[in-house]
Amino acid sequence: MKTAHRFHAAAVHALDMVMPRTCWLTGAPVSDSQSMVVPALRDELAELLQYRYCHRCGADRLPGVASCPFCPNRRLGTAEIVRAGPYAHPLKELISRFKFGRHWGLAPLLASQMADAWKRAASPSMDVLVPIPLHRRREFGRGFNQSRELARCLSRLIGVPTYDGLVRRKSTGHQSAATSVHQRRENLRGAFESKPVDWSNQEVWLVDDVCTTGSTVHAAVAAFTALPPKYQPARISAIVLAVTGVSVMGPQS
Ligand SMILES: [Zn+2]
Repeated sequence: MKTAHRFHAAAVHALDMVMPRTCWLTGAPVSDSQSMVVPALRDELAELLQYRYCHRCGADRLPGVASCPFCPNRRLGTAEIVRAGPYAHPLKELISRFKFGRHWGLAPLLASQMADAWKRAASPSMDVLVPIPLHRRREFGRGFNQSRELARCLSRLIGVPTYDGLVRRKSTGHQSAATSVHQRRENLRGAFESKPVDWSNQEVWLVDDVCTTGSTVHAAVAAFTALPPKYQPARISAIVLAVTGVSVMGPQS
């Protein structure tokens, strides 16, 4: 195993010599193969982690407002949500390249951003990461499930196992085309099903790339709560890369 690792490291070094690595967004040279973006973008990613947000719904925290005004319309059904940032530059562009540009190699960088968010959230207890599944036709078309790739990389970074515990029964089309929260929820009703697993005593964390209205997370939670009570997880939470739609604030002290 160590020999294989040394061979891999040597191969990467040789590749760097003949083909210098460049930033995934700007195209500028980066110092080594571990740096996927230029330092300025790394700093901007770190800044996104500073944004304060509501751990119940993922929306930005409004300064001076005691209770989150977004929670009533963003019921996720989870105990909490951890996010790596708002859907803003440069996270937004990186997600787009990762997901739609099929740049799978961005998964480690994006997962490290999630791991940092998890640590900032006081490293809440986790037993298993469960990626949100795609319908098999969608996954075939895209070539991969972005949430599974993120969960795999995150698993290695934080030492929590990942398990494909949910199945997508329903193809819901492009949710971004749906016009309302109500429509999204209706489209996703019964979309997921838990595998026949005893989840009792497990602290489950759903993994997804982007949370827009929270309808997908809500539907995934419903797959667990549809199980007989004795098989349901002790706690269900979610960790996502970005939250959209309710993230218009800057970093707050
Ligand atoms: Zn909230």
